[in-house]
Amino acid sequence: MQKIIFLKYGELSTKKDNRNFFLKILNDNIKFVLNDVNIYYDYGRMFIEPNIDNFDLVIAKLKKIFGIHEIVVAYKTIDRDLDNIKNSIIELIKDKGFKTFKVEVKRSDKNYPYDGMELRKILGSYILENKDNIQVDVNNPEFILNVEIRLKEVLIYFTSIKGLGGYPVSSLGKGLLMLSGGIDSPVAGFLAMKRGIKLEAIYFESPPHTSENALNKVKKLAKKLAVYNHNIKLHIINFTEIQEEIYKNIPHEYLITIMRRMMYRISAIVAYNNNAKAIINGESVGQVASQTLTSMGVINEVVKIPVLRPVCCYDKLEIIDLAKKIDTYETSIMPYEDCCTIFVPDHPVINPSKEKCLEYEQLIPFENMIYTAIKNKKTITINNDNIKEFQDLL
Ligand code: ATP
Ligand code: MG
Repeated sequence: MQKIIFLKYGELSTKKDNRNFFLKILNDNIKFVLNDVNIYYDYGRMFIEPNIDNFDLVIAKLKKIFGIHEIVVAYKTIDRDLDNIKNSIIELIKDKGFKTFKVEVKRSDKNYPYDGMELRKILGSYILENKDNIQVDVNNPEFILNVEIRLKEVLIYFTSIKGLGGYPVSSLGKGLLMLSGGIDSPVAGFLAMKRGIKLEAIYFESPPHTSENALNKVKKLAKKLAVYNHNIKLHIINFTEIQEEIYKNIPHEYLITIMRRMMYRISAIVAYNNNAKAIINGESVGQVASQTLTSMGVINEVVKIPVLRPVCCYDKLEIIDLAKKIDTYETSIMPYEDCCTIFVPDHPVINPSKEKCLEYEQLIPFENMIYTAIKNKKTITINNDNIKEFQDLL
């Protein structure tokens, strides 16, 4: 019998007309991280035959790929004769310790000589005859043996691992993640990827007010996201001049509002130039002054591109939980200043007015500064491979 892995798609299998499109991207994404495997698929299942003997490594990588609902380790035989199925089952379960069990049968070949009900009975009885001290329990069994009768093969399995779910990354196009060194934005990026969005990221730095370490922290976070997402382009914008001009010329209660309007404007242009169809950020309603509904509206109105805020309705504790799950939390809480925290006023406005923003923005030559900031943008690619290379950055 050949040990293989197959995948169940979950939500993807409901995409009737576009199923092929989604499956092709899932297939490409898997090949990108597992180059040494044979893959084939139909509408119900995707099969992976690793060449190497290291199933654990293959499974660990599959667990980081969106669009996979369940990862199943199965044994495949092309001899569909009932006696062969019976013997194969006994061989496979002989060392398994359980007291109660049930057999589940899925028969996708409707012409197989026995139907599902008959097979369940025949195989269940055979197991009872050949293994001591066990009994059938259909409601709450310790062990479930699955048998799938397909056109050309039979699959037997009992190990299934939950996948990440969602849609394959790239299947819904590209988005630009505003990635700060904080806790929220990496989680927002992760959730956007879950819906099939491929990420590029943009980071605003303000040297010398922000350090090289702050940038390295962002690179490291991008690296953690790249694990799910092929390679991530990280656009680095020097924000110093804009931030200093705002600080010098604009009433301090409006610093954050105007600074964020500038970030949005720049992000929208960078998104457009890189074919990203949405901006994604880690804003969460009510978390800080710039995230009241009025603030969000006044900030948002400077761009037309959709702004996705995947964590907008999450509590901070829920965001932290997710950050821990995706392993960004420890990096995010490292104490390097980001450009927003340096210029924080004592009393930021909670209900900013659009008219005042427009009036204050006349006080600085912001269009020229935005043009210069984008012209001087640096872009690096954070690769999905070799996480070790970044381990020592901080
Ligand atoms: P985070 O924990 O992600 O830093 P936050 O609660 O600190 O979020 P803000 O600092 O108000 O919130 O920023 C809100 C969002 O704006 C961030 O989640 C991020 O998406 C974006 N953002 C803030 N600062 C930067 C920056 N320096 N570069 C890129 N994006 C930024
Ligand atoms: Mg922040």
